[in-house]
Amino acid sequence: MKIAVIGTGYVGLVSGTGFADFGHEVTCVDIDPARVAALQRGEIPIYEPGLPELVHRNAKAGRLRFTTQIAEAVPGASIAMIAVGTPSADDGSADLSAVLDAARQIGAALTGFTVVVTKSTVPVGTADRVREAVGATAKHPFAVASNPEFLKEGDAVNDFLKPARVIVGAEDPRAIALMRDAYAGIMRTGDRVQVMDIRSAELTKYAANAMLATRISFMNELAQLAEVVGADIESVRKGIGSDPRIGAKFLFAGAGFGGSCFPKDLRALLHTARSHDVALGVVDAVERANERQKRVLGERVLAHFGGRLDGRRVAVWGLAFKPETDDIRESPALVLVDQLRAAGARVAGYDPAAAANVRAALGTDAIDLASEPYACATGADALVLVTEWHELRHPDFARLKSSMRTPVLFDGRNVWSSTEARSAGFAYYGIGRP
Ligand code: NAD
Repeated sequence: MKIAVIGTGYVGLVSGTGFADFGHEVTCVDIDPARVAALQRGEIPIYEPGLPELVHRNAKAGRLRFTTQIAEAVPGASIAMIAVGTPSADDGSADLSAVLDAARQIGAALTGFTVVVTKSTVPVGTADRVREAVGATAKHPFAVASNPEFLKEGDAVNDFLKPARVIVGAEDPRAIALMRDAYAGIMRTGDRVQVMDIRSAELTKYAANAMLATRISFMNELAQLAEVVGADIESVRKGIGSDPRIGAKFLFAGAGFGGSCFPKDLRALLHTARSHDVALGVVDAVERANERQKRVLGERVLAHFGGRLDGRRVAVWGLAFKPETDDIRESPALVLVDQLRAAGARVAGYDPAAAANVRAALGTDAIDLASEPYACATGADALVLVTEWHELRHPDFARLKSSMRTPVLFDGRNVWSSTEARSAGFAYYGIGRP
């Protein structure tokens, strides 16, 4: 089957390549000519483990192409999939301008019956607007469908090729059949496609992110209580996570969640609820708890040094919003860097993949980026771990002790051994630990 994927970011590139790997003929479109030119040369514009191999294999086999032109990709395609960004607008709603722009261009490029599928995360009711936008320019029949994506950056290839489930919101029987065909590659172990009405599919995506974010904010709030009452949130986490009704995942207290999805999707969900006069008290609290949590590490550093950091150098390990990605959108590390700088500190930073994005976002004056973690910590008055990349989880404390100016560690993810750190001569602060 021929599939056009519009938008070649984290979701579009992974899913387009995944569909090609299932044997389909895929053309990926992006409005950014530099991104398309890079992909045509075989360069992968994002850091995503396993993706380069998959792109190269499918491009070489002739199943995966890249273009800037929707008008080139859509003619003859059975499915045109929209995977462009839906960032927050000023009022917290999802900005649908790129989605609707793509829909209009798809409409104009149709040459026969096509399913226009929204993979981007979009508020309930967006399919109606997509139908209208495609219909405004279409001269051929089409159906709309919703197919929200649940991949996680850092493990996106695996998630796409072996999903827990695929959600398809569609009412047209031809659309349902074509979507099942598109995902035939994952059906060997059983039917993982759940077909439902379009509005339920759209809401399912927001419900999933809101539930996951709720678990994190819940643990972050409990971590504050644990600190005050002298309990260890790590023991509490293990204690509740072993209950199968609760489960162990997404229960880590830390420096708050960031990324391109949870914060903006919570805002958009709250906006949708408000505009229908429905109170989502839990979701609202989750967002507020996270805004507070993102400042906890910085406040702790300031408190340790008596409220000001003039003349201090603070090293930050991990700048991406989570390990195994170069994505820094709404990363808690950026909030920390701002807090430290505002208090007078000079900030040094290290991240295995996100340095270029940090440089582009903050410029070269705001932060001294190091190419190696121990160089980053040299001469520092404090070291803060924000993003727990594997290579940062078991540091050589003796080496750090001999190169730092003041031996203070702030473990924003509770991954270091407080006993080891203290016996190496460090003051150690975790999150929710005595
Ligand atoms: P992204 O910013 O990485 O990629 C979007 C791409 O779309 C960019 O390359 C941009 O140049 C391109 N684009 C914008 N307007 C275009 C247009 N009119 N025509 C063609 N290309 C256009 O975004 P992303 O992280 O891939 O997210 C895309 C959507 O998927 C969002 O709605 C997001 O919420 C959702 N989502 C993201 C993730 C994730 O982990 N990143 C997971 C699930 C769902």
